[in-house]
Amino acid sequence: MRILLVEDEPTIRDALQLNLELEGYEVVPTGNGKKALELVAGQHFDLLLLDVMLPDVDGFSITEQVRLSNNEVPILLLTAKDMPQDRIAGLKRGADDYLTKPFNLEELLLRIGNLLRRSQRVKGEAPDLFEFGNNKVNFETYEATTWRGETIALTRKEAMLLKLLVERKNEVVSRNQILQAVWGYDVFPSTRTIDNFILAFRKYFEKDPRDPQFFHSIRGVGYRFSWSD
Ligand code: CA
Repeated sequence: MRILLVEDEPTIRDALQLNLELEGYEVVPTGNGKKALELVAGQHFDLLLLDVMLPDVDGFSITEQVRLSNNEVPILLLTAKDMPQDRIAGLKRGADDYLTKPFNLEELLLRIGNLLRRSQRVKGEAPDLFEFGNNKVNFETYEATTWRGETIALTRKEAMLLKLLVERKNEVVSRNQILQAVWGYDVFPSTRTIDNFILAFRKYFEKDPRDPQFFHSIRGVGYRFSWSD
């Protein structure tokens, strides 16, 4: 597992690199945001660990830039500020998780482990190509073709949620299970966020979004993807 570590403070950067390497990760360290973008463009990383406060290109901008072309790689942001609007700003730009400095090393390692496991899970189990109705989803490329013949680029979170529902088809998946599997235990979007994802799925994949065939909300319980081949 390769981690890109972007932190401008040498003592923190060195300590993080050492501890991540002790966990068995391969670490590529840099203190420079521009350099980080070059590295992401040219190499494969399994996770990005980004300090928000950097002298040139900050962690938010790096996240935004990376997400233009890469929806997959998990991004964990580190910041000195403990401000909720920063947390939201980071997540809105496509970060997966957020930790405030000074952080507990063990917690950081746990979160990194969780993010990596979740992203491996998205790559794993359900078949890469899945068809239902006349819709086709490619979980490898996050591309979907709808029954109308439209091609849609799913976001990473959309793909994760869709994959979870597909893997548990014809079962009710609770909101908590979805939040844990897709967002992680430490990031709690409102349940309305999940509703919005389901509404989007209906718009893409249902012939009549108001009378869904595949994506069902079970009031007060969760969601069910109904499908049998
Ligand atoms: Ca910094």
